Amino acid sequence: MVERTCLQCGDHWAVPARAARARPRSRWGRGFSVPSVLGSGNAALSDAGMHYLLEEAHRRDATADQEFETLQQWRKCPKCGSIDRYTQRRAP
Ligand SMILES: [Zn+2]
Repeated sequence: MVERTCLQCGDHWAVPARAARARPRSRWGRGFSVPSVLGSGNAALSDAGMHYLLEEAHRRDATADQEFETLQQWRKCPKCGSIDRYTQRRAP
């Protein structure tokens, strides 16, 4: 765990170590995109195959969005709501 201390109000909160390393990027900056699949001209792709790809894309989106939201929450002071205004150190 990593402890973060708010520079604004002095409140502190704990986040998992992986959150301290994570740098959330834009939610749109991900590899897989439906248009690139649709535009590939792959006529061999059946309706079922296409359906699977779309379902898979939605599933990845949901997971990534959830992760993104969680990381956003950890950046924010729970008390005063300021974002990225903290120092952090490894908790014992
Ligand atoms: Zn604060």
